[in-house]
Amino acid sequence: MGDKVSLTTQNRLIITGLFLSTVLIVFIAIFAIINIQKKLNDGYKSFGQVISKMLAIESIELTNGLNDADTNNTLKNHAESILKSHNDIVLIEFRDKDGNVIYSGKNDTHKNIKKANITVTSPLEGIKNGNVTTLGTVTVALSGNVISQISSTTRASLLFVFVIAWVVFAFVILINTYLITRELRILQEGVKKISTGEFGYKIEDQDVSNEVKELFNEFNDMSNRLHIYEEQNIEQLTLEKNKLEAVLMSIANGVVVCDNNDKVVLVNNHAQKLLEVSEDALLNTEIQQYCDTDGSFCFKDKIEQFKDTPLEIIASKPIEFNITIDKRIIKSIISPMFTRSNDYVGYIIVLIDVTKETEMEQMRAHFISNVSHELRTPVTVLRSYIDTLYNYGNEFDYETQKEFIGTINQEIIRLNRMVNDILDFSKLEADTVLEKEPVNIVRLVEECANQMNVLTEEHHLTIEISKDGDIPEVELNYDSIERALTNLLSNAIKYSPENGKITVKIENLKDTDEVKVSVTDQGCGIAPEHQKKIFDRFYRVENNTHTIKGTGLGLNLVQTTIEKHHGGKVFVQSEVGKGSTFGFILPVKAFEPSENVTI
Ligand code: ADP
Repeated sequence: MGDKVSLTTQNRLIITGLFLSTVLIVFIAIFAIINIQKKLNDGYKSFGQVISKMLAIESIELTNGLNDADTNNTLKNHAESILKSHNDIVLIEFRDKDGNVIYSGKNDTHKNIKKANITVTSPLEGIKNGNVTTLGTVTVALSGNVISQISSTTRASLLFVFVIAWVVFAFVILINTYLITRELRILQEGVKKISTGEFGYKIEDQDVSNEVKELFNEFNDMSNRLHIYEEQNIEQLTLEKNKLEAVLMSIANGVVVCDNNDKVVLVNNHAQKLLEVSEDALLNTEIQQYCDTDGSFCFKDKIEQFKDTPLEIIASKPIEFNITIDKRIIKSIISPMFTRSNDYVGYIIVLIDVTKETEMEQMRAHFISNVSHELRTPVTVLRSYIDTLYNYGNEFDYETQKEFIGTINQEIIRLNRMVNDILDFSKLEADTVLEKEPVNIVRLVEECANQMNVLTEEHHLTIEISKDGDIPEVELNYDSIERALTNLLSNAIKYSPENGKITVKIENLKDTDEVKVSVTDQGCGIAPEHQKKIFDRFYRVENNTHTIKGTGLGLNLVQTTIEKHHGGKVFVQSEVGKGSTFGFILPVKAFEPSENVTI
């Protein structure tokens, strides 16, 4: 029950009922008292009349045959004796037939009474000569004490009875009301508990009527059902929550969920890794306050922009931006979160590590510019040489013409190699299975080295081939392995100093039934950080020592050929300033690439 006292309809009805019943009881009491008093008065009046009549008759009998003086005395004595013996009779008065007072006597106890309550006069009639003659009158006055005592006693008794009846009535009503409201209060308490979520709350009160007990039982049953339902619901919700969390946690991208007060409510494992922060450090903090490795609030501005944009726009076009954390480029997408009923509840930030893609994109752009440059150079050279020969060929001697044609030939070879690289790249990328046959790999290496003669002579280099033991025939695709080896050799030539030596070593790895081919040069070498990426598509080292242009495809082609199509392995060992060893290991028996093999 609340502290505030307020009149409910029920209370008002009770008060009105009590008031009406009080008024009714008062009316009935007044009516009954008036009625009883009237009846008593009437009875008293009749009593007075009877007394005066009796007195008249007695007086006639007593005075019959007496003379006037004796009559008067007799009446006086009689009257006095009556006055003495009847306290209620105040006055007795005899008058003769002419109205003269014969005797008038008052009761001593009523001397102070000025006006009697009831005064009754009766005629004194006697029979003279056979005729009824009026001899005078007798007047009797009654005090009315008895009647007033009786009526006051009656009034008091009645009032007492009515008051007692009213008190009992009011008490019963109040007790009844209290008992009914008590049960209602118990029920109300129970309903309150349920409304505050205390499902399973039981009303236990045995001291109630059967109907109410039934109601209480129904209530308890309902409460119990709600409790079971709640437990099932919580279990279901927990299950759903766990499922959702498991999905979010195992998602490959980082996910940070913020409520509409910008507080982080969920951060998955991947996001923790990307943002280099623990869950505890991020949960319940404002994501705007997150600092990247440079110490800048990388989300602040974008979240403000997100908040300034109308939700309908942001819902169809989330905000995308890149942040840099510890040299990694992380693409961040902020999109709003809505409930099923379309209420805005916060936002979700998806974090994707795009470092590789960004690098790839840069490399691709580089590749395009390199390829066009690489293609333009030989074409320009070819055009100028051919132009010169065409227009002024006659003016040159045979040797010069031969020299011109030699240069043209070299440029065409270079052009051809480059075009082949690009073509091979797309061919090797496809899931086609290359045909393989047993090949004498020593001969293959020698042929490749021979093809490099023009270049080696040009750079005054020597190629030395060495083999370690008996080299078995290896099942391979001749053309593709030849191109791979050519790539390694031409790189070794490109990056070797003048008069350098290139060693090609062929080894038989009997234990693993493999053959190893390595190309060692004495060139500029490659720094360790580049070695990891050197086989990536379009990757090129570009610094003061690596000034030679290229496409960045060569080593990737070698890797694809060896690993994807032959099940072998490529490797690199290099030291800056000392030289590099590139090579590959091939299984002797042909490898059948599965469809899923990707490099
Ligand atoms: P490109 O066609 O540009 O030479 P590659 O994939 O063949 O592409 O080579 C990738 C990078 O590896 C080159 O840019 C070069 O810097 C480096 N590289 C390859 N071979 C050697 C080597 N023998 N010595 C030094 N650097 C090399």
